Amino acid sequence: MEQTLSIIKPDAAAKNVIGKIIDRFESNNLRIAALKKLQLSKEDAQKFYDVHKNRPFFRDLVQFMTSGPVVVIVLEGENAVAKNRELMGATNPKEAKKGTIRADFAESIDANAVHGSDSLENAAIEISFFFGKRELI
Ligand code: ATP
Ligand code: MG
Repeated sequence: MEQTLSIIKPDAAAKNVIGKIIDRFESNNLRIAALKKLQLSKEDAQKFYDVHKNRPFFRDLVQFMTSGPVVVIVLEGENAVAKNRELMGATNPKEAKKGTIRADFAESIDANAVHGSDSLENAAIEISFFFGKRELI
């Protein structure tokens, strides 16, 4: 059993497809261990995406992630980290495989619908960034 962090990004939340995206997880044997909707502050987004702070797209990424509410979700299941990444599809939706979340719901490499932890180690860090002990069942 693994846990991973998913974020339904502002573009997808604004498009009213939160439920449709959650259905992709549940239909593929990932369970919702924790979930909440919130508005990231600039500081939150900068801290969360700290690994990208020297990349040319960092400012746009922070701007986008704070442009509206997001839904943060802890997904649980067998190979949850890899399975979530597979369901998400490639970072650039134009390169994402048919039937993936990004192929179906994302517009661009900036507004790409979802985030998913890229390793078990980062998943643990990202989960504790958003959720306290009593929220994790
Ligand atoms: P995420 O971390 O959001 O799950 P990812 O792991 O597929 O996405 P990363 O390389 O971690 O991709 O990049 C983080 C985010 O930064 C991407 O989701 C995307 O919105 C943005 N990003 C990445 N590369 C570029 C780029 N070349 N141009 C613009 N934005 C980018
Ligand atoms: Mg990433």
